[in-house]
Amino acid sequence: MYDVIIIGSGPAGLTAAIYNTRAGLKTLLLAGAKWGGQLMLTTEVENFPGFPEGIQGPDLMANMRKQTEHHGAEIIDVNVIATDFGKQPFVVKTDEQQYEGKAVIIATGADTKWLGVPGESEKIGRGISSCAPCDAPFFRDKDVIVAGGGDSAMEEACVLTRFAKQVTIIHRRGEFRASQAMQDKAKANPKITFMMNTQITQVLGEMKVSGVKVKDTINGEEKELVTDGVFVAIGHIPNSTVFKGIEVDEKGFIKAREHFHTNIEGVFVAGDVYDHQYMQAVTAAGFGCAAALEAERWLESQT
Ligand code: NAP
Repeated sequence: MYDVIIIGSGPAGLTAAIYNTRAGLKTLLLAGAKWGGQLMLTTEVENFPGFPEGIQGPDLMANMRKQTEHHGAEIIDVNVIATDFGKQPFVVKTDEQQYEGKAVIIATGADTKWLGVPGESEKIGRGISSCAPCDAPFFRDKDVIVAGGGDSAMEEACVLTRFAKQVTIIHRRGEFRASQAMQDKAKANPKITFMMNTQITQVLGEMKVSGVKVKDTINGEEKELVTDGVFVAIGHIPNSTVFKGIEVDEKGFIKAREHFHTNIEGVFVAGDVYDHQYMQAVTAAGFGCAAALEAERWLESQT
């Protein structure tokens, strides 16, 4: 029986585990078969405080994990396949075992949302990517497209210009969702052009990307564009489906009540699985800390 079971091992989950173990709580962290979350797919992280020269994403996560282990958390690299939050103690199941905990912190993060058009899924890694910092060097002197109109699309496009010859941002509406500052940055970059009111309907190419088919969302006109790569930056899908009975919003993000409680007392939430506003490593870590402190207080109130 654990005091706290933390599910997920990005900055939110690992920070929560550091706090709970340091508070003397018996803590289990179920890290996922692929531990570490989205920062494992990132290169340079320049905005996590404490690293004046920046740090590579996987190195930052390795440090966080070491720190968590140092404080005595038990970490198992396994996926959670089901949960039962209907009664105390809560039950969390993996393929091989089930674990019982008095409190649970959900910190499972969010995954890339793909376009879902023909020709896309089979070319992920063959010209289709969702991570410019990871894959931009493969597109040196090439033409690439970025799909999306939010901050991620602007950021991906700017990163890509360090390598690519030309970057075209394709957005389905006439206005961007991105912040003005990010739009201004992208607009000031001479390598970036914009195609508005346009939806990608198909990715072309046999073994790798050779182009896309697009449709004008106003007049329905269709045409084909030649490109070497497509970076999809249209948002994220929260990893929340496994948690039956937990209240989510229309996009599947877990709804946090006051003090990081979910709708089930004793089950807390932290990080990108609920936060679609900030989605930063440092905010996820901060939310992990807050959820851990709240879990601690709640456990105290139960005795
Ligand atoms: P987002 O803000 O939800 O934007 C997603 C964009 O993709 C929207 O423009 C949306 O179009 C478009 N889109 C969604 N589904 C689509 C589809 N099926 N086909 C074509 N286009 C589609 O997501 P995000 O850009 O990933 O940003 C998420 C959060 O992280 C935001 O709060 C953002 O501010 C933050 N963020 C911050 C930074 C930074 O500050 N450095 C960097 C990245 C992200 P519509 O506009 O038509 O809905």
